[in-house]
Amino acid sequence: MERLVWRDGELVAWDSATISALAHPMQRGALVFDVLSFHDVTHVGRGVAVFRLREHVERFLRSLGLIGLTSPFGVGDLCAATCATVASTGLRDGLIRISGFVPTIEADVVPRSPEASVVIAAYARTDFPKKHASPPCLSIQVPRDVRKAAPDAIPPLAKVSAAYLGPMIARGRALSAGFDEVVLLDRDGHVAEAPTANLFVVRDGALSTPPLGNILDGITRDTILALAREEGLAAEERHLSYDELVAADEAFITATSYLVAPIASIDGRALRMPAPGPITARLKARFHRVLSGDDPRAAEWLTTV
Ligand code: PMP
Repeated sequence: MERLVWRDGELVAWDSATISALAHPMQRGALVFDVLSFHDVTHVGRGVAVFRLREHVERFLRSLGLIGLTSPFGVGDLCAATCATVASTGLRDGLIRISGFVPTIEADVVPRSPEASVVIAAYARTDFPKKHASPPCLSIQVPRDVRKAAPDAIPPLAKVSAAYLGPMIARGRALSAGFDEVVLLDRDGHVAEAPTANLFVVRDGALSTPPLGNILDGITRDTILALAREEGLAAEERHLSYDELVAADEAFITATSYLVAPIASIDGRALRMPAPGPITARLKARFHRVLSGDDPRAAEWLTTV
């Protein structure tokens, strides 16, 4: 089957989704993107379905707006385009990347026209080579020399490539030092998030996760907060200190790529409970049931392509 991507209204050959090395997003880090997942739910008669499609597309459009770009396509157009892209691959399970960028070569930091080009690609989770496969439980480093960018430097709700530069440096160093992942502190010293994932801690049976303000509004984070409350667990959004992170019974990170990934240790110190702890395991299992269509929440959160 020929590989296709959706580009500005039509499905075109995968290899034609290119831009110049001199184009604006390459030179300024102004590529806006979002990552979604799709799942095989044939056994419940739902075919292939995208998880929380509308929320991801809305976040994508919000990110564009936050950096001053516009989209010629609305929520409905991009939801339909995402489904068409997934269907064109014949894949039953994988990830989707929506990218928005000004494709022209620009002399100024502000492009002449703010209108973004939009590209949507769907692929298997194993399609791209990964040097650092994540183990089942993570050893985390909390770097002191790289922090989350201040919210008045790069808006944290904008999923834009420039925001990943500090995290890229920090994660690169941590991987070289033998850690699996980093969790960054914000400018005030509060725990913020991992480069591409949000963080939860569990203490005495209650969940806490940093509030919005210095982090991305992760859709997995929102999902886990909703599921935890449905499970009757206390779950609050509040500032967390480094000491609270280290003293957690359990901790985990959440993302479309990671799903729920248990944390075993912080800066070489094991958490109180061996990972995955009971609450992490329970929420992870519940989330997987949603993604496979076997949960009442699936009806609301899965869109058949
Ligand atoms: N924070 C950042 C900075 C991210 O890039 C991501 C990945 N999109 C997340 C958190 C997790 O978000 P989501 O659960 O929507 O994948």
